[in-house]
Parts: sequence; C-alpha cells; structure tokens
Amino acid sequence: MENNKKKVILTGDRPTGRLHIGHYFGSLKTRVSLQDEYEQYIEIADVQALTDNFNNPQKVRENVKELVLDYLSVGIDPNKTTIFVQSMIKEIAELTVFYSNLVTVSRLERNPTVKTEIKQKKELFGEDGTLVTYGFLGYPVSQAADITCFNANLVPVGEDQLPLIEQTREIVRKFNNIYGETLVEPEVMLGKVPRLKGLDGNTKMGKSLGNAIYLSDSDEEITKKVMKAVTDKNKIRKDDKADPEKCMVAYYHNIFSEDEKKCIFEECRAGKRGCVACKKQLAKNICNYLRPIKEKRKYYEKNPQIVDEILKQGTKKASIKAKETMKLVKKAMKIDYFE
Ligand code: ATP
Ligand code: MG
Repeated sequence: MENNKKKVILTGDRPTGRLHIGHYFGSLKTRVSLQDEYEQYIEIADVQALTDNFNNPQKVRENVKELVLDYLSVGIDPNKTTIFVQSMIKEIAELTVFYSNLVTVSRLERNPTVKTEIKQKKELFGEDGTLVTYGFLGYPVSQAADITCFNANLVPVGEDQLPLIEQTREIVRKFNNIYGETLVEPEVMLGKVPRLKGLDGNTKMGKSLGNAIYLSDSDEEITKKVMKAVTDKNKIRKDDKADPEKCMVAYYHNIFSEDEKKCIFEECRAGKRGCVACKKQLAKNICNYLRPIKEKRKYYEKNPQIVDEILKQGTKKASIKAKETMKLVKKAMKIDYFE
C-alpha cells in the first residue's frame, strides 16, 4: 500500500557499451540514493540502441547483461528498483506510434541532442547520408513513450538529455490537451556532475565516443587511459608552469582527489609538478575509488543465473505497470474497442 504512494522514477541507458564514470556521477549515484524514496524503474533501452546500431545486433545483445552487472555493482538493489528490457514491453512501441502524431519532423530535426549526435556521428564516420534514419530521428518520441509508460514523475539524467526530456514534456502537454488529462509531465533531476568530459577533452565522455573510463576497467586499463589524457599543451618540460583549467588530468583530480586537489593545482601552476607523476597519482585514486564496485561486479559475473532472474522478474513487473498505463491511454484516445 505504502509503495503506491511513492513517486515514480524512470531512467535508463542504451546497451551500446559498459557504463563509465560519466554515467556514475551523471546518473547512477542519484539512482542509488533515491531508490528507497521512489518507485524506481531502470530501462535497458535496446530499441533505442538499435536506432543507430541496427546493423550490429550482437553488440546490443551482449551489452544488455553488462548493464545489469554495472547497475548491481554500483548498488542498485533489485528489491527496490525494477530493471527491465525495453523491447520486451510492447506498450512502449505502441505509445511511440501514438505519440509520433504529436511531434513534427522539423521539431525533431531542431532537437539540440539529436543535432549534436548527428554531428558526432559525421565526425566519426564521415558524411554518410544513411546515418540519420527515420528511427534515429524519432528516438526522442520513443523516449517520451519510455517515460510516460511508467507515469514517471522524475527522470535523473545527464545534461545531454535535457532537450529530450523537454520534448517528452511537450508531447505530454499536447496529449493531455487533445485527449484529456491522462499522462504525468515529468521533471528532470541532474546529477552531481551533469556532463563529465572525456579523457580527450571532448565535452562529453560517451560510450560511443571512445573516450571513457569504464566502471569495470582493470587497473592496467585505467592507468593506460589516464597516461594518454590530454594536458595543457603549453607545458612541455616537467618544470614548466601549467594551467589546470586546460588539463583533463586536473579535471579528474577535482572529482577523485578531494583531499589532495588544492595542493595539486598549486604545484601545477607553480611548475613544481610533472605530468607523468600527476597522471600516476590520478590513476591510483581512480583505481581505489572503483575497486569496491569491481569486487561486487565479480560476484555477479560468477553468478549469471542471479542476473538473468533479476532481469526477468523486473521485466515482468514493468510489463504489469505498462499495461495499466496503456488502458488509460487507449480509453483517452477512444481506441479501447474491446478486451
Ligand atoms: P552513447 O554514446 O551510446 O549514446 P552514452 O555514454 O551517451 O552512450 P547513454 O546510455 O546514452 O550513454 O546515457 C545514459 C545516461 O547517462 C543518460 O542519462 C546520460 O545523460 C548519462 N550520461 C552519459 N554520459 C554522461 C556524461 N559524460 N556525464 C554525465 N552523464 C552522462
Ligand atoms: Mg547517449
């Protein structure tokens, strides 16, 4: 009974790769801290991943389990949070079709997130006209279906998602206006670091951008990546003065070296700190931070049947909730012909 009174959270990730520290500070930490207070659903957005990975189904398939492992390793508790697979909830696909009438093509083309992602794809793969499919352009509509299917009040996301949630809010308002008050208009909640930059200095660390430190990277992988991180290009010799503002190593020290960062930045500015030592110190701190997360992951990696069951049960529970919403939507749209 008490559970019914809780507000609802819907959030999720695309199974395009394992989760990285950007996800952790942008969204995962918030999800863990809110799972007692809210009725929380985490969607593994395989349909959305297929919009730009339709020709690589194996990649999407493999990463579904990787995501569940990542969730469990950071402290998502399956007794409190429902983890489910998007493609198994057919109501989401139905809602996507209904909502597609409520948004114009030009509005989708103007969506800043969609625009940035198309630009990134062109940078990575060249000017390929086949990159922007009908499905890819429409993924913000499918995301509106994800959120509203669970009548979510709150969506904890990274900053890149803001225009997408705004799109959802517009669709909800239009739906309620035409068909009567039915859907909940969701609010956004940003994480502590709403947009963690990439090791390469890119404004966003992203799974599909090749610039990420994954939560499950080995100590060796983390160290190797940190050693290649972009630093102030004006610092050539060890004792040259540098500007921490222009250095990705300093940027990550800000997050992972709470007690040491003041001294690190002073030494950097005064030319008393070599980049190699600075990078090694950062790598060590990141490794220490991620160690307990990786320990937990190992336990679940060794027990795949537990992971499978969590996903199966979560998807079952999500399906019940989705059916309740669909009943209301069909009634409002006057397409509730017979049972
Ligand atoms: P892809 O490159 O395949 O789109 P992604 O790294 O952007 O992958 P998503 O699955 O699209 O990851 O995003 C999942 C959630 O993580 C979203 O809420 C997104 O805003 C958040 N997120 C992703 N990258 C970052 C980041 N660098 N900083 C903060 N939050 C992030
Ligand atoms: Mg993304």
